[in-house]
Amino acid sequence: METRIEKITESSLAEAQRILRGGGVVAFPTETVYGLAADARRDDAVRLIYAVKGRPSDNPLIVHVHRDFDLSSLVIDDMPYAKKLRDAFLPGPLTLVYKSRGTVSSVVSCGLDTLAVRVPSHEGAQAFLKYVDMPLAAPSANLSKHVSPVSAEHVYADLHGRIPLILDGGECSGGIESTVCDVTGPIPVVLREGLVSREMIASVAGDCACYIPKEGEPVRSPGMKYKHYAPVCRTVLFAPEERREALAYFMACSAKGERALVLCENDAAESFPADKVLDMGRTPEEMAARLYALLREGERRADVIIALKPRGSGGVLSGVLNRLCKACAGEEK
Ligand code: AMP
Ligand code: MG
Repeated sequence: METRIEKITESSLAEAQRILRGGGVVAFPTETVYGLAADARRDDAVRLIYAVKGRPSDNPLIVHVHRDFDLSSLVIDDMPYAKKLRDAFLPGPLTLVYKSRGTVSSVVSCGLDTLAVRVPSHEGAQAFLKYVDMPLAAPSANLSKHVSPVSAEHVYADLHGRIPLILDGGECSGGIESTVCDVTGPIPVVLREGLVSREMIASVAGDCACYIPKEGEPVRSPGMKYKHYAPVCRTVLFAPEERREALAYFMACSAKGERALVLCENDAAESFPADKVLDMGRTPEEMAARLYALLREGERRADVIIALKPRGSGGVLSGVLNRLCKACAGEEK
């Protein structure tokens, strides 16, 4: 199958609609990462997403809707604080998990009685959702367990030959996947951290918990079980105060003839050779925006990415640290 990359125009949107109406999949931009969309009401179309990505069949999908979409047709929304969260943060990088009405394909939620819904703020995503006029199930448009794509070229690198069309809306400004927040209980519970931080949610809803899976219990957000977001090359993670150890590791790799690159915040960059640094920038927002493009650049140019965690904690940095740790999961120093 030929995979075309098209700017978002009347004619590419018409083509996207034709593909979706035929039960196919289309990649599209959002403010977080690129998504791979199918008609959320069709079992066959939603199954195709899993097949194209190689995604485990128990990892549920997020339904994307236009800002004017009637939410009550999809979910039961009985928590007053949920409206406050929508008013404060939507459209934007926040996915809310509600009780489902069961009106979309059960394949979307992998049989759970809840449904995750997101209203992206990206102009191209909104134009796409308005044009096709249907709820779209969409995970990130990468091969399962690889780094999420933040440009049309990243989607192409992972999925060319497997999908017919990539709508090109430029580089994603947010850079990490949406915050996922359960709004079925008395207080909101963050299942996955992102650009809308737990603190921001608490300031609007009055309170907010963060879900930590307990051993032996079924995981509440099945995506959490999987190693995710990982580059194809080796990655090694160091704590912020281990700058010297990271440099020693870098030297040892170089001495062995390995191509090593160091991923770190701007403040730490001076400790390493300038041409070997993947600079994440200074603010948590900058780090989120750059992280995945740098991981993909790293896997292209290096045998090993040596990642030094940025200093600090909480807020948006929690999401950045979560993705960085997942990218480097299981690697021994
Ligand atoms: P992705 O589409 O790859 O960004 O992953 C979607 C994330 O949302 C995964 O971590 C899922 O576990 C989570 N998710 C989707 N639907 C639900 C749901 N109904 N309940 C809990 N988590 C969900
Ligand atoms: Mg994903």
